[in-house]
Amino acid sequence: MLGSMMKRDLLISELIMHAGKYHNDTEIVSRESNGEVTTSNWGEVADASRRLASALGKLGLRNGDRIATIAWNNHRHLKTWFAVSGGGMVCHTLNPRLFPEQLIFIVNDASDKAVFFDKAFMPLITGTRDHLKTVKHYIYMGAHDEDVAAAVPDALFFDDLIENGDESYEWPALSEDSPCSLCYTSGTTGNPKGVLYFHRSTMLHTFSIALPDALSLSSDEIILPVVPMFHANAWGIPYAAAMTGAKLVMPGPGLDGDSLLALIDDQNVTLALGVPTIWQMLLAAAEKSGSKMASLRRNVIGGSAAAPSMIATFRDTYNCDTIHAWGMTETSPLGTANQPKGKHLDLDADAMAALRIGQGRPPFGIDLRIVDDGGDALPHDGKAEGALQVKGHWVVDTYFGQSESALTEDGWFDTGDVSTIDADGFMVIRDRTKDVIKSGGEWISSVDLENIAVSHPGVAMAAAIGARHPKWDERPIIVAVKAEGADPSEEEIIAIFTDKVAKWQMPDAVVFTDAIPLNGTGKMLKNKLREQFGETLIERGV
Ligand code: ADP
Repeated sequence: MLGSMMKRDLLISELIMHAGKYHNDTEIVSRESNGEVTTSNWGEVADASRRLASALGKLGLRNGDRIATIAWNNHRHLKTWFAVSGGGMVCHTLNPRLFPEQLIFIVNDASDKAVFFDKAFMPLITGTRDHLKTVKHYIYMGAHDEDVAAAVPDALFFDDLIENGDESYEWPALSEDSPCSLCYTSGTTGNPKGVLYFHRSTMLHTFSIALPDALSLSSDEIILPVVPMFHANAWGIPYAAAMTGAKLVMPGPGLDGDSLLALIDDQNVTLALGVPTIWQMLLAAAEKSGSKMASLRRNVIGGSAAAPSMIATFRDTYNCDTIHAWGMTETSPLGTANQPKGKHLDLDADAMAALRIGQGRPPFGIDLRIVDDGGDALPHDGKAEGALQVKGHWVVDTYFGQSESALTEDGWFDTGDVSTIDADGFMVIRDRTKDVIKSGGEWISSVDLENIAVSHPGVAMAAAIGARHPKWDERPIIVAVKAEGADPSEEEIIAIFTDKVAKWQMPDAVVFTDAIPLNGTGKMLKNKLREQFGETLIERGV
């Protein structure tokens, strides 16, 4: 033998052991369902998750069993994650915003054996449990509670399980090739599909997102994951916070602008992560209150495209650097993050701003390509647009419960997004394949039009969709929500597109609506908008 290095499996339990041992007094702040803000620390989370894992074992739950959670981001949810995955079971985060029928489908599809639930979701449990065929245990995430005991007579209580848990429990020695968690895509079309993550894939993703050119995490950060733990594992933040020893601020149910602003200012949050609709509410709250969110150095925007005007507001008004990131449930989720390279540091302000609006470049471990309709690779020249495909250590191969791989014959995953990639690897999402507007055989990016529409101060939110047109098949129209107190006209909004896009890409109409429907993770439901407004031009008699 020439020699050897230690061979240790990459396991989620190592994360919580590390955080508990080397960052034990670093705080975990959590807003509970009743609005109360509590403080614990990594040491306490590590201890409680071990006790909970032992309690789950005593309930007869075994390696590989799926255990669901329906909960906001709070300290009990965090403990459940580490207990379930560290203990060898699979943590299946459910999106409470799903319709009950979807929830029933997902729980049955996953054959969940137990469900952890927050008080807010008790009605969802009582309303669906007769249909949840495989669930044997319902665990209420709190102390003993008479209301809960009355509504769910067989409920177990989280705090009791921890108290009676085994102090001397040791994390099991698992294989890194065993599953640790499960998350379903939101399934805007068709039934949702499950993506099963593994200890190894999750650990490699965790190392990667913490790197300086990705999300640049460290023990001096105070991180607010606004992105829910059921949305692609809160983008991996709970794991990466444990790895780096960062302080976490868990926002609980308070995802409105005022509640988030209060947490940011009270807890001196340095980094917050969420989808664009969250930031829009936060910016409105900050403007109203006059807070400058002085502690917030950086934010991560992903899930949908961040408008350049939003990135500029964070930079210019709040001195906050936006990292625009792209990913999917199928990619664990981080696929790209927008951080400049060394060679970009001398760029002037305008060129730097232009570079930072795209979705960024892949970290080590992820490879990207774009292909044309025939599957042939397109150049990375920043101009060619094609179907974005991805390959990497934390990318899905086969969906949960399916027998066939989801990959192309040559081993790439097709994302359903259309993008460009430049010579430096910077990727820009132009659209989702199904949202592209096709006018007379030419493609128009709905993202471009939305970015321009929301740069009008009188527009709070805007979606660009293709409306049916007798001559061009489809023409772009804007569906807009007016900003509070503003009353822009249709002509005024159309006018701001002049000189920003080619004449044939100008929207043909602007219709105003009170609210744009959003899916469970805060994305605009454009299929609903197409149903509602798709005939606008025909009705106007164009
Ligand atoms: P779903 O596909 O069910 O909406 P995901 O949360 O997995 O659930 O969504 C992944 C998709 O979200 C991507 O394929 C892409 O279309 C979109 N997306 C994610 N991040 C961005 C971003 N920064 N800019 C534009 N689109 C994004």
